This record gives sequence, structure tokens and C-alpha cells, in this order.
Amino acid sequence: MAETYDVAIVGSGPGGYVAAIRAGQLGLKTVVVEKDNKLGGTCLHIGCIPTKALLFDAEVYDYFKNAAEYGIECKGFSVNWTAIQEHKSKVVTKLAKGIEFLFKKNKVEWVQGVGRLAGPGRVSVTDVKGQTREIAAKNIILATGSEAKMLPGLEADSRVILTNREILNLPAIPKSMVIIGAGAVGVEFASIFHRFGTEVTLLEMLPHAVPLEDEEISVELEKSFRKQRIALHTEARVVKVTKTAKGSTVEFTGADGKGQKLETETVLVAVGRAPNTAGMGLEKTRVQLERGFVRTNGTMQTDEPGVYAIGDIVAASPLLAHVGQMEGIVAATHAAGKSVEPINYLQVPNCTYSEPEISSVGLTERAAREKGHKVKVGKFPFSANSKAAILGVREGFVKIVSDEKYGEILGVHMIGPRVTELIAEAVMAMRLEATVDDLAGAIHAHPTLTEALLEAAEGVHGMAIHI
Ligand code: NAD
Repeated sequence: MAETYDVAIVGSGPGGYVAAIRAGQLGLKTVVVEKDNKLGGTCLHIGCIPTKALLFDAEVYDYFKNAAEYGIECKGFSVNWTAIQEHKSKVVTKLAKGIEFLFKKNKVEWVQGVGRLAGPGRVSVTDVKGQTREIAAKNIILATGSEAKMLPGLEADSRVILTNREILNLPAIPKSMVIIGAGAVGVEFASIFHRFGTEVTLLEMLPHAVPLEDEEISVELEKSFRKQRIALHTEARVVKVTKTAKGSTVEFTGADGKGQKLETETVLVAVGRAPNTAGMGLEKTRVQLERGFVRTNGTMQTDEPGVYAIGDIVAASPLLAHVGQMEGIVAATHAAGKSVEPINYLQVPNCTYSEPEISSVGLTERAAREKGHKVKVGKFPFSANSKAAILGVREGFVKIVSDEKYGEILGVHMIGPRVTELIAEAVMAMRLEATVDDLAGAIHAHPTLTEALLEAAEGVHGMAIHI
């Protein structure tokens, strides 16, 4: 007789483990099925956390390189790649242990194995030895995440052709790297390896880097990359990637249609991610797929009663850890029979931890105009912000897109120092339906980077003080 749980969750990434903890907090008997021998999924082991650890190390190295600017003599420093890898692993291990602790605290059980839907209220779990057992659960939450896409005909290896997975374990800092795709993954790794001394070339097929962002943000990033000497080719079409004795040759056509050839030690493929929904047993259920992603309603229920989906596998939901976490809370709360507010996907913060950092929430200026808003924009450059001057940063800005009638904040877009931390205020302002005048009327501490938000709000009326 199979054991019965209130909730079985397949996948322990940020969506799955947060859903599990919330389910435990709500008194539900909860089990998590995880194929790996550790908890945390892509975000913790090969995504957000290790990359941000590397980005921080690169930032520290930058401070050393520019120390003279701050009046500090710094000689004889160098990068110790092995120690950097150890730092990254230490952070990851600490956080993975933290999830185990939280599971125990909230009486969440977990089993290692590949989970599949076996029928209504049943999950089959196949362990590493190939043995299968079944778990019965009143509710099942699918949180199986996504995998990096590959270009047709290419296969990742551990040295030359890389995805976000292999690149984290390179034995040494490569001399050169071609990055295919200038989305979040592409520009973040460009920022890491460029600062560690790799010659980086980005190839993006669309007219701009970070193409989902407001166009002015993309243009500012491109300007900054050019200044830093990170090569970027937009409207680039990759024709052929060939492995060679020294690495790889990448052939592409540029915006002018002319063919070009790059010799490189490494190639990072960063062209998006695909959902892990194949082989999950979904075909025998009423779960509906849209191009491989699972259709859900506002409370994360699929079309199969008792089955929820959260995180990267959900259709029409951005592939972001923090979105998966909130979807996990929504699903677990609903499974506990409690009322819960559906997610407003227009209020999701987007953060790219490149150098300079990018963050945004809501509509871009173009999208706001296309929706018929009478748009008023306020912009404030970090070059006029006192804290940015102290930090030695002269680039970037905050841009607020508002509706003229009542000053409704439609979107906030930032590029510059620590803007991934600043975006929370904009998200909260939009959630509370604050106007640009509410934002401008809230006293912001001086000197802080947050003042740039206040000034951008004032800027909507052409009344920013410091420009
Ligand atoms: P992405 O979809 O964000 O960007 C992929 C980029 O590659 C796009 O700009 C696209 O136009 C380009 N592209 C696609 N095919 C190409 C080709 N053949 N040649 C050249 N360019 C090509 O995908 P990603 O950067 O791989 O990230 C995957 C997912 O993970 C995204 O949803 C992203 O939001 C998420 N992610 C988020 C963060 C973050 O929030 N900081 C970090 C990493 C990844």
C-alpha cells in the first residue's frame, strides 16, 4: 500500500523547494522528489547563485584593478581561479545545506529519484539503481525546470562548446570566448570572463543585446560594452561552429550580410532554455502543453485536477527563479485549501547581473505606447547621483514610464550600479498603485542610489533637482 501525502512535489529548484516549505508551514504532509543527490536545482547549483558568486569575484577584482582611483596602492594581486571556484562552491554548499535544514524544520521529506506522473494522485519514483516505487498524494506539484537549448548539430562538452552548466567548471580562464546569444546568460558571462581577462565576442541575432528590455537600456549596455572593449555583433546569424585543435571556429554573417570567421578557445551557447516536460507521463493526463510548456490557471492548476505546475515549465510565465518561488507559494497555498491572490506578471522584476547591472518592471516605453497609453517619461542619470559619484560610477540611468493622466507608473527601467537591488522599490510602488508623485514625495535617504528613482519620478514633470 503506497503512503499517502497531502502534496508531492517533483523538483527541488526554487519553485519546488519553496512550495514544499510553504506546504509544510501550512501543515500539509509533504514530500519532494528530486533526481539529483542535492536540493536546490538549476538556480542554486548551475544558475543564479554560482554565476552571481563569480560576478561578485569579478567585481572585487575590478576594485583591485582600479584601486588607485580610490587612493589605495595595490600591487602584486592576481586571480586564483581554483580559489574562485572554491569560493563559489562554498556559497552553493552553504545554501544547499540551508534548504535541507528548512525541510527538516518544516517536516518536509525528500527522496532522490526521477519523478513521473503515474496516474491520478500517483507519482512514480525511479532511483539511481533503476528501481521504481510509487508515492500517492492528494496534490502533485510539477516543478521540473528547464535545460539550456543547443544549436542544431552542436553538442556541449567540458572544454570548448559550453552551456551555463559546463562553463562553471572550466579548468582555467580561457583566452577567448564567443558567446552566442546576448540575453541574460550571455551578457552575464561576458561580464564575468571579460573582467577576468578573456577576450569576449557576443553574437546576437536580434538588433539589440538584452532584446526584452526597453530599447534605451539595450543601447546603454551596448555603449558600455563597447567602452569596456567587449565585442558585440547584433543581427548576427551563426552559420557554422566547427571544433578545431585549439578550440573552435565560429562562422557568422554580420548586420551587413558579410561572412566573418572567429577563432576561439571556447564557445558559450546562451540562446534560451527549454522546459523539462518530456517523459513526465503528461500524455496520459489532461495536462495541456503549449510548445512544451504546461498550461495553468491563476492558481497554478493544470487541466488535470490535483496537478499543479510551477516555475520554468509554466506557459506564459518568465523563466525566473523568483517567479517560480512565488508560483510555488500560490500552488501550495491553494493546495492547502486557502484563498490566494494570482500572480500579476506585469509586476515581475527582471534583473540582469551584468556590468553594468540592469533591472526593470512593467511596460517598456514602446509597449506602453503600443497599448495606447499617453506616455510621459522621466529619466535620471547616475552621473548626477552623489552616491554613484562616490562609487566611481558615471554610466547608467533610471527611466520611469508613466501614464500622463494620473501619473500611473507603467514601468521602471534601470541600468547602472546595484540596480538589481533598487528595483524592489519600483515593484512595491507598482503593486500599491503608487503614482510618480507618490514616488517623488517619499523621502529617500541621502546619499543613496535610491535617490535616482525619486529624481526620475520628478523628471516626469521636468522637475528633477540635480539635472
Ligand atoms: P534569453 O532568451 O534571455 O536570451 C537568448 C538570446 O539569444 C536572445 O537575445 C536571442 O535573441 C538570442 N539568440 C537565440 N538564438 C540565437 C542564435 N542562433 N544566434 C544568436 N543569438 C541567438 O536566454 P538565456 O540568456 O539563455 O537565458 C535563459 C533563461 O534564463 C531566460 O529566460 C532568462 O531570463 C533566464 N535567466 C535569467 C537570469 C537573470 O534573471 N539574471 C540569468 C540567466 C538566465
